[in-house]
Amino acid sequence: MLMVSTRVALIYRGASERLIHKTLINKIMMARRIHSRRLDGVEKNIWVEFTQLAADYKVVNLGQGFPDFLPPKFIQDAFCKAVSGGCPMHQYTRAFGHPSLVAILAKFFSRIVGHEIHPMEDVLVTVGAYQALFCTFQALVDEGDEVIIIEPSFDCYQPMVKMAGGKAVFVPLRPSGGSSKALSSGDWVLSAEELASKFSPKTKAVVINTPNNPTGKVYKAEELQMIADLCVEHDVVCISDEVYEWLTYDGREHVKIASLPGMWERTITIGSAGKTFSATGWKVGWAIGSKDIMKHLKTVHQNSVYHCATAAQEAVAEGFQVEYDRFGSPESYFKELPKRLQIKRDKLALCLESVGLQPIKPEGGYFMIADISAVKFDFNDTSSQDEPHDFRFVKWLIKEKGLATIPVSAFYSLEHSKDFENYVRFCFTKEDSTLDAAEEILKKWGKEK
Ligand code: PMP
Ligand code: GLN
Repeated sequence: MLMVSTRVALIYRGASERLIHKTLINKIMMARRIHSRRLDGVEKNIWVEFTQLAADYKVVNLGQGFPDFLPPKFIQDAFCKAVSGGCPMHQYTRAFGHPSLVAILAKFFSRIVGHEIHPMEDVLVTVGAYQALFCTFQALVDEGDEVIIIEPSFDCYQPMVKMAGGKAVFVPLRPSGGSSKALSSGDWVLSAEELASKFSPKTKAVVINTPNNPTGKVYKAEELQMIADLCVEHDVVCISDEVYEWLTYDGREHVKIASLPGMWERTITIGSAGKTFSATGWKVGWAIGSKDIMKHLKTVHQNSVYHCATAAQEAVAEGFQVEYDRFGSPESYFKELPKRLQIKRDKLALCLESVGLQPIKPEGGYFMIADISAVKFDFNDTSSQDEPHDFRFVKWLIKEKGLATIPVSAFYSLEHSKDFENYVRFCFTKEDSTLDAAEEILKKWGKEK
């Protein structure tokens, strides 16, 4: 018989050996690669970086794209009504979209696309346009597939393609006649030959964004027809990000590529209530397309997010109903907002010009890019010395002058970003007081130069 003290000692030894063993395993685990290869190269995010920087320096913020004014009263009221609308508004609703929202989205967009959209089959409500994009890439892209992206492009397309196992193939919009002559976003053009050369047997989809973030380019019907013809010829899907669809200026019309002959069957159109009703924090978006494609997006959605906030969907449904009833009239928010934003755009353009930043006037959206190649700035920040020129300019403007913008090369692939380091993006969906404060900063800087 072992003495009690020896038994206790052995138990302790056993426990401490187990502990050493566990620690060793932990060490081995820690030494192993933790993260999936899908995440390699997509860790950095300009919104995370520059939104934090703008907050840290408490600047005038023309960087991240969101309105600093309230959404219209009718949509705020709709939200208040929804949240006080009883128990069902606080509980789960239909996975693929609250019935009232898919019904009105289908009715609203059938009229524009010229195709009878089925509310239950052809529409998916998502957590903002971001999740619509995510579902689309996850649903369509297989290992090794290629996705053609026209750049500059919203920065999440490429990481999403990569995370789905695909490869992004880029084709740039180019300033026609050289950057000094391209003074409107309409002067940024896509070469049909260059686009055609990017198709291969591996091409699964083409992504377009009209009105474009960041340039504000609104694709003309002929340009869309050229893209559509290539999609049909190569039998690929078109992913059309149209979150700024109501924001066009100077009489320019937004055309939906899904409305072109033969395109309904192969287009996924993505929209956002955040942009539509100036309520980016609500995070309600949608994807619309033929049921044969949409069923796959729904598979991704039901196994990830499942469904979106019920009350927010109810409010957006009511907002669309109001807009449906007054569509095309001057009271429509979809007419009134761009009218207001056009004035803000012109005010900002004049101010940028006056300090030697050459604006590229946008035909749509709520961003304006400006050429910074003529300006000199003295920035002693060694932490950013290896960064692209526009990144350094933006950091200097935030830290030294108190104004936030976004570097445009972030909207380009590595392949082309070097050619576009001389632009920064300003957001003008802001209160006049915010634009005035930005103007004051820029003018003061102009005088110091
Ligand atoms: N697409 C584009 C072109 C955008 O600019 C944005 C950012 N708002 C989104 C998609 C994402 O929209 P949401 O905020 O509705 O997720
Ligand atoms: N879409 C917005 C922009 O372009 C912001 C997106 C974000 O903050 N993630 O500014």
